[in-house]
Amino acid sequence: MDFLLQFWRCSLIKTDIKSLSLQELKTEIENMGEKAFRAKQLYEWMHKKLARNYSEMSNISSNLKEVLAQKFDYVSLKEAEVQTSKLDGTRKYLFELSDGHFVESVWMKYHHGNSVCISSQVGCRMGCRFCASTIDGLARNLTPSEMLDQVYAISRSTGERVSNVVVMGTGEPLDNYENLLKFIQLITDENGLHISQRNITVSTCGLVEPMRRLADEKLQITLALSLHGSTQEKRKELMPIANQYDIHEVIAACRYYFAQTGRRITFEYSLVAGVNDTDEDAENLCRLIDGMNCHINLIPVNPIKERDYRASARSDVLNFQNKLESRHINATIRREMGQDIDGACGQLRRRYHGKEESLGDG
Ligand code: SAH
Repeated sequence: MDFLLQFWRCSLIKTDIKSLSLQELKTEIENMGEKAFRAKQLYEWMHKKLARNYSEMSNISSNLKEVLAQKFDYVSLKEAEVQTSKLDGTRKYLFELSDGHFVESVWMKYHHGNSVCISSQVGCRMGCRFCASTIDGLARNLTPSEMLDQVYAISRSTGERVSNVVVMGTGEPLDNYENLLKFIQLITDENGLHISQRNITVSTCGLVEPMRRLADEKLQITLALSLHGSTQEKRKELMPIANQYDIHEVIAACRYYFAQTGRRITFEYSLVAGVNDTDEDAENLCRLIDGMNCHINLIPVNPIKERDYRASARSDVLNFQNKLESRHINATIRREMGQDIDGACGQLRRRYHGKEESLGDG
């Protein structure tokens, strides 16, 4: 009985066609008795021409489209809201997934090209104290296609080419390892958008085993580590994940990443007034990363209404940067993009949640 139930359930779950590699798609298409070149056509419609649905695929017969629709799920995110910054043109998108969850993504225009920041999970279970994305915990992982379609939907909406992708939105990408890797494989594929590995950044709060596993993949992507504290004690105050991994273990994993890939590590350090922004903090930071080939991004913390952390004063931020530079450590202050729209990670989604709830209540 259980077996029958399971069989029935499995037969209801359709394969997610946009998460398949070209090779996997070829196998599926051939098993359906179709010619292999159809797979290449379909793949290009999805990953190069960024089709929203099967009906846009003009060189695919309506018969085949019907069969495909029965057999496969076609992920296409629905734009629920877009905010555009009047200051710098940054756009923040809120997308609705097919099960009613929401994710946010950001589009930023830089001199060197357009960047998209994507989410990797619905919510997050890492619990960083200053982060809005983690307040309601983790709902679920995003599939490769849901990560891809954030980039595709933004590219369709702006009509512009995306040259950089940063996995720095809601979620912990290394807590969704397999899907992240598949996403990277698909977005860098020459038959798709063909974004260079060097133009992809993955940011982690420091999950040591997956960091080492990623190093062994020997990809050319940039690994960004959210450090936010220069000692184990300071890090623990802001990031519960520090209870699981000691700061020295995390730094050792960063050194290993560089050794395996030759890619310079980026450290993210959010400056919180009175918590991690003193001369002593800067000194400890210099000692911690001594001799590493790295870059530090200093980010004045973006206050969220659920917590009372404040951003460091401008003079303290500059002082912190000077201390690092006097020790020949490359440090930049992150340019704040889209300050006039819901800035911090997860704020747009939370605000939207609030609106939905109050609509429901009222
Ligand atoms: N989970 C991953 C990626 C998502 S968060 C990570 O921890 O790196 C992306 C970056 O934004 C992280 O460095 C995170 O610590 C930082 N961040 C989150 N909320 C912030 C806030 N309110 N102010 C400043 N930085 C914040």
